[in-house]
Amino acid sequence: MAEVFPTGTVLFVGAGPGDPELITVKGFKALQQADVVVYAGSLVNPALLDACSEGCEIHDSAPLNLDQVLAILIAGCRAGKRVVRLHTGDPALYGAIQEQMEALDAAAVDYAVVPGVTATFAAAASLRQELTLPGVSQSLVLTRLAGRTPVPAAEELSRIAANGGTLCLYLSVGMMETLVAELLAGGHFTEKTPAAVVYRASWPDERIVEGTLANIAARVAAADIDRQALVLVGDVLAARRAGVPEKSKLYDPHFSHGYRRA
Ligand code: SAH
Repeated sequence: MAEVFPTGTVLFVGAGPGDPELITVKGFKALQQADVVVYAGSLVNPALLDACSEGCEIHDSAPLNLDQVLAILIAGCRAGKRVVRLHTGDPALYGAIQEQMEALDAAAVDYAVVPGVTATFAAAASLRQELTLPGVSQSLVLTRLAGRTPVPAAEELSRIAANGGTLCLYLSVGMMETLVAELLAGGHFTEKTPAAVVYRASWPDERIVEGTLANIAARVAAADIDRQALVLVGDVLAARRAGVPEKSKLYDPHFSHGYRRA
């Protein structure tokens, strides 16, 4: 098999949302070729580690601090090994990879990134829902409520919600009352705006709770979901019941584009 990354380097790999078949082919090959894997044990499906070779050294990063993770990555590279740092979903979102890459730069260790399927797209797939519908929303905002990590004032949820569109909230399902209050405070969404919560999208124990901003917080509390879930909000979610208000121009028989004449 062709080598997907050189020895003595780190490959940050997106593991995808949970279903082990939702990693990229490149990410999977990297696991097969790795000599060292450091994976985020809280959300990465350990079934992915079955791809690793017999002799591969595997570390769960959950109990480790940043310096301990870096020590493993750097020592592996200096010993001429191929090192995979396996992150949940896509590594570029809430993955804390920038500080790891910065430290690798400082240690003169080379690295690259393989993207992954982020939780938003797994949730949309589970809902069988398009997130951008003509005449309804053409924008998707991925954001979160402040937790231990603050959110810059300009990105307060009420300010983002004031624009409407489709919103997908990470790391926030444990604060549903605040979340709904902020969304309503924006002035665009109303108590009738549909919302969906997808718990552990693409895992065997996935659960979906749907409602409106009037009742979603109570329904999520009743379902006892307070982590590992995504909150989707916006009028696109009404389309599965109410129908699509406007068909896409892309497949419109009267509309020409580069690959098809009207
Ligand atoms: N890099 C990851 C996000 C890490 S932050 C990604 O791209 O998906 C962790 C948060 O992501 C969780 O608190 C939850 O809000 C969300 N999340 C991750 N995997 C999920 C899944 N399978 N289903 C629902 N939400 C998920």
